[in-house]
Amino acid sequence: MKIQYPALAFLALIHVLALASFPYMYFYGLSWPEATYHIIGYFLGGFGITALYHRAWTHNSVNFARPVEYVLAVCSTMVPQMPARQWISTHILHHHHTDSDQDPYNIKRGFWWAHFEWIILAPVPPIVLPARLDNNPVIEWQERNYFAISAVVNLLIPVGLAIAAGAPWWGGVLVSALRLVVTSHVVYSVNSVCHKWGTRPFTQEVSARDVWWFPFALGEQYHNYHHAFPRDYRHGVRRFDFDPTKWLIEGLVMTGLASNPFKMPDRRIEDAKRSRVPAE
Ligand SMILES: [Zn+2]
Ligand SMILES: [Zn+2]
Repeated sequence: MKIQYPALAFLALIHVLALASFPYMYFYGLSWPEATYHIIGYFLGGFGITALYHRAWTHNSVNFARPVEYVLAVCSTMVPQMPARQWISTHILHHHHTDSDQDPYNIKRGFWWAHFEWIILAPVPPIVLPARLDNNPVIEWQERNYFAISAVVNLLIPVGLAIAAGAPWWGGVLVSALRLVVTSHVVYSVNSVCHKWGTRPFTQEVSARDVWWFPFALGEQYHNYHHAFPRDYRHGVRRFDFDPTKWLIEGLVMTGLASNPFKMPDRRIEDAKRSRVPAE
């Protein structure tokens, strides 16, 4: 088993720095601008992954206007996932081979494997994108500038805010690391928690579950529905299911910044609930 040392080193580093952020905040406090930046960053970064990487690009659930794609592509770097091409390729494998050896985050290999061990221990799968993304300039632009953008949003701005607040510059690095760790574990949990605990109202063919009590994933906690109907832009399909990504998409559609949101017909959803049809 080949260890992905850069990923291991990065994850170890941000966890150590995140731990150090607690004594730092105890002694130095945290200014309002810094707290606001990181809380907003949690949501914007999350939407970069859930709305853009996942629902729009991987599953073709909705089309975003180009400027929205650029903005969300920048936001996505606030969660340390990977450039979109690698993320999409890996996630497509997950859907095609759920719960089997070719599933990169196969839950059958254990909770921690699905949560994060796969990042360190699994071979990096080859990049295979859906043809519709071949000429998407945003995907290429994001990959070319991934580390520069990450450095600005995760280091430069937090350090600037710390200095502006009269705190030591390195405090900005520590608090940023805490946000990176928290958001990482939320994303990891969709592959671990949401394949282990919860209900399976729409398909029992795969381990994916709806986990209503895990709202931090911005809607992606309705993971059983998502595996049953991956193209639907809604993961929380009932009107009041807590799915902020669904609401963001609906807002963007209303303002003309997004188009063609795909909805599975109600009849198919009801059929699935009644017969628990296999995933598609
Ligand atoms: Zn899944
Ligand atoms: Zn998916």
